[in-house]
Amino acid sequence: MHQINRRRFLELAGVAAAGAALPCSVGAAIPARVVVVGGGFGGATVAKYLCMWGGGKVAVTLVEPNPSHIACILSNLVVTGALAMDRITLGYSALRTRHGVSVVQGRVTAINYGSGKGTVSLSSGTSLDYDHLVLSPGIDFIPPPDSSWDPNLTPHAWQAGPQTLLLKKQLASMQDRDTFVMTVPRSPYRCPPGPYERACVVADYLKRKRLNFARVVVLDANAGIQAEPIAFGDAFNFTYKGMIDYVPNATVASVNSQTRSIVTSAGTWSNVRVLNYIPNQRAAAIDPTAPGRGWPLLNAQGFVPVDPLAYGISGFPNIHVIGDACALPASDGKAVPKSGHMANAQAKVCADAILRALNGEAPDTNVTTNSACFSPITSTTASWLSANFNYGDIYDAAGKVKGKGMHRVDLGEAPKTNGDNYQDMFTWAEGLFADSFV
Ligand SMILES: Cc1cc2nc3c(=O)[nH]c(=O)nc-3n(C[C@H](O)[C@H](O)[C@H](O)COP(=O)(O)OP(=O)(O)OC[C@H]3O[C@@H](n4cnc5c(N)ncnc54)[C@H](O)[C@@H]3O)c2cc1C
Repeated sequence: MHQINRRRFLELAGVAAAGAALPCSVGAAIPARVVVVGGGFGGATVAKYLCMWGGGKVAVTLVEPNPSHIACILSNLVVTGALAMDRITLGYSALRTRHGVSVVQGRVTAINYGSGKGTVSLSSGTSLDYDHLVLSPGIDFIPPPDSSWDPNLTPHAWQAGPQTLLLKKQLASMQDRDTFVMTVPRSPYRCPPGPYERACVVADYLKRKRLNFARVVVLDANAGIQAEPIAFGDAFNFTYKGMIDYVPNATVASVNSQTRSIVTSAGTWSNVRVLNYIPNQRAAAIDPTAPGRGWPLLNAQGFVPVDPLAYGISGFPNIHVIGDACALPASDGKAVPKSGHMANAQAKVCADAILRALNGEAPDTNVTTNSACFSPITSTTASWLSANFNYGDIYDAAGKVKGKGMHRVDLGEAPKTNGDNYQDMFTWAEGLFADSFV
C-alpha cells in the first residue's frame, strides 16, 4: 500500500463520475428492454446511465420493493444523532422524471435463466420480459450457527432504515458502566471500514455523553483490522484508549438476542446493554427457497462470480450482476471491495457494455473502477480510504502475465485523521448520491 495525498484522492474519487461523459448510441429501431433489480447504488446508477447513454433506444424498468432508498453511507452518523434520516433518504423521482426510468415498486421473486431473452416474476404476480437483466440486490445475512438471533432485539443496522433507528434508540439508552458489543463479519462483507467506523463514532458518543466506564467491545471474525489499519489502530490505541476493546479472531458460535449474549471463540459476553450483531454476509437471495437461493452460480462465500468487462454471469451473457452481490477478484488476490462508490462505478461499466452489446459490439477493455469510503473517527474528524482498479494484464510472482483481470493500481488511506476530511466526506457523499439518483 502507498499513501496518496488528499488532492489526488479527491481527483480519484471523481473517476467514476468522469465516466459519465462517454456517450453510447444504439441502432435498434425497437427499444431494447432492460430490467434492473434493486434500487440501491448499483441499480439506480445503471438505470440512470442506460437511459442517459441509450439515446431513447432502451426502455429501462427498475424493480425495487421500497418507495425510496435509505443509504447506508453516513448511516453511522444517524445512529449517533449527528444526522437526520432525511439526509440519507434518496427518492426515485429524478430517475422517473429526468431520465425516463420506469420504476416499479415490487420484489423480483424468480428469474427465467434463458440464454437469450427472458422473464422475471414479481411479488405482485405479474412478470416482465427483458433483453438484458441487471441484478443489484445487495446482501443477505447468514445467521450464526447456534442462534436465537432476532434483529428486532439486537439490530445489525447494516441495511439502513428501521434498523438504524433501533440501534440509535438502544445507544441512547446506555448508562454509566454499560457495554456496547459489536461484531465485525468475516470478509468479504459490505463496506470494509464500516464496522471500525461505527466503533469509533459510538465511543465518541459515549465520551461526549460523559458516561463513566461505558465501553465498546469489537469482536472481529478476522485476524486483524480489514481497512484503514493506521487510522483505526490509532483510534483504538490512543483516541479511545481504555474505551474500545478490540478482539481479533472472534468467530461467533451463538447469539441470544433475548439475553443480549454472544459466545465466540475469543470469549463470551452476556447481558450487555447493546448487542450490535453484524452477521456474515452473502449475495441477497432472489428466491430463498430455490436451489442456490435463486442464483445459477455462487462462489464459496455465497457471492456471484462475474466478468469485469460486462459483469455477466458465466453462460448467461445478457444477465449482469453488480454491486455488493457480485464477486470479482483483484490482482492481489483480494476481492474488489463492496461499497456504494464501487457499485456506482460498476454500474457505468455495465451500462456501457450492455449498450455496446445491443449495437453488436464487444465491451470496452479500457475499464477503470474506483472505491472510496470516508470514515468519521470523532464528531469533527474523519479518515478516508481509496482503492482504484484498471482492467489489464495480471502477473504471477515471477512477473509473467498470467491472464487478464482487475489490477489494483492504487490503495491509499488518509495520511491524517482531521477536520478537513470530515467536511470532504459530505461533499463526496452528496456527489455520489446525486450521480446515482439524480
Ligand atoms: C455503516 C455503513 C457505512 C457505509 N459507508 C460507505 C462509504 O463510506 N462509502 C461507500 O462507498 N459505501 C459505503 N457503504 C457500503 C454501501 O452502502 C453498499 O456497498 C452499497 O449500498 C451497495 O449497493 P448495492 O446496489 O449493491 O446494494 P444496496 O444498496 O443494498 O441495494 C440493493 C437494493 O436491492 C433491493 N432488492 C433486494 N432484493 C430484491 C429483489 N428480489 N427484487 C427487487 N429489489 C430487491 C433492496 O431493497 C435494495 O434497495 C456503507 C455501508 C454501511 C453498512
